[in-house]
Amino acid sequence: MAIEEIEIDGEKVVIKDIDDLTADEFASIKGPKPMGEKALAERAEKRQAAAEVNQLFNQLRTLVVSGHQFADWQLDVAMSTLFVKLEKADAEWIKELSTQVASRPIWQLFAGWFKLLHERGETTAAIYDVDWQTNGESKKEKTFCAYAPCGVEFVGERAGQKFHSNACGVAQEKLDRESAKETSASW
Ligand SMILES: [Zn+2]
Repeated sequence: MAIEEIEIDGEKVVIKDIDDLTADEFASIKGPKPMGEKALAERAEKRQAAAEVNQLFNQLRTLVVSGHQFADWQLDVAMSTLFVKLEKADAEWIKELSTQVASRPIWQLFAGWFKLLHERGETTAAIYDVDWQTNGESKKEKTFCAYAPCGVEFVGERAGQKFHSNACGVAQEKLDRESAKETSASW
């Protein structure tokens, strides 16, 4: 009856010997039913798309760090990424201000608003919406369960969460141990 405690994603999890598991516990470590071909293909597609976005932004970050001089339209595309965080009406208003009213690139509106606030001594007087994330965007980032047989897409409760449930974390830990055992046995 080998029972011990390990830590997964900062949470204590009790590892039991597989023979000691209750029927419910055993069922839970098997994870969800195997995915159908269509679901598997969709998952692969989503993963691919997410990987491409990450790659793109890593390249962008490299350019930013190197002090690359971006064109106005490129800066506007970058600024527009935050529209998903704004009220739809606000985003529309910003676009209209940029194109119709001020005839200025979007980035100049934001830079100009900052200058205005700075001149008024109000840069620290920002109004934060309660709907905005305060602990960093990674907190609500969608990701895929790192336990391969599961692999379900989920939104983590904690930054850097790898498994969608403790059961999957435990199952992965078991896999790791078994493969470690096999590796050391083959030596
Ligand atoms: Zn899972």
